[in-house]
Amino acid sequence: MRDRLLEWFDAHGRSLPGRDVREPWRVLVLEVMSQQTQIDRCLRARDEFCERFPIPAALAAATPADALRAWAGLGYNRRALALRRAAQVAVERHGGTVPATIDALGDLPGVGPYTARAVAARAFGARVVPVDVNVRRVLARILGTSSVRSIQAYADALAQAPEDGASSGVFPGTPEAGNRTGGAIGARVADALMDLAASVCRPRHPRCAECPLRIACVSAFAETAQPQHVPAVPAERPFPETRRWLRGQILRELRDAPAGAWVPVEGERGSHGHVSVREAVSALAAEGFVEIDAEGRARLSET
Ligand code: SF4
Repeated sequence: MRDRLLEWFDAHGRSLPGRDVREPWRVLVLEVMSQQTQIDRCLRARDEFCERFPIPAALAAATPADALRAWAGLGYNRRALALRRAAQVAVERHGGTVPATIDALGDLPGVGPYTARAVAARAFGARVVPVDVNVRRVLARILGTSSVRSIQAYADALAQAPEDGASSGVFPGTPEAGNRTGGAIGARVADALMDLAASVCRPRHPRCAECPLRIACVSAFAETAQPQHVPAVPAERPFPETRRWLRGQILRELRDAPAGAWVPVEGERGSHGHVSVREAVSALAAEGFVEIDAEGRARLSET
């Protein structure tokens, strides 16, 4: 199955810039960014962020305000502060380097099991496969189960077999394409499954006739390949009505102000009244995003 998958990947995989990056800090930054932001937006942002903070020690020494400014446009700003704390842990416990094991990676703030596996596989060549929601859909259909444990075990098994046969060990579109010298096999399997999920094993109408894995897929051409493993999408409130929008709006205003300047944060924002705005500012202060002075003005946290 692995060789079938990688053969398909060599022929049909997307040549996304950045997939072949192996430097651990750059890998970690991209994985954290792409947790909740589209990958094409993250690639450029990662380059700019790593230019500003080329090693963990640079981010560890930065203020929260610096980290939040460098995070502009990516949303979910908690990740910026968590990544800064992760950089501090890297400095304090790992000599300023990104740790190599899944356990140590998982101990970094803001790094969950998926991100730990992704960094271990992509930067350190660990034979594990990070399973996101799309990869999970493909494997759930192949196995006919929604068991997270079974799916993860199967995914990791795909990275275990020796790299011979059809596996080239490189990424499509790279100068080394065709070279069979081996590589980050867990990351390659994950990328192949992600591309398969995007173009063949799609959420609503899987194209089983084109699928390289159909010979061992219990859902191939079956009703079960249709909607049952597709995660339900909960009904959402319009974004401007959410607390997340309000928090992002306040941070944008403070980010746009001159560095260190205190900014009055009063009045309404969209459909949010002044009480909600004050509460949001207080919550942001309690979480370390902003500081508030005696007059109730705010600024991005400088400490
Ligand atoms: S055979 Fe169909 S359902 Fe099974 S993995 Fe391929 S596209 Fe998905």
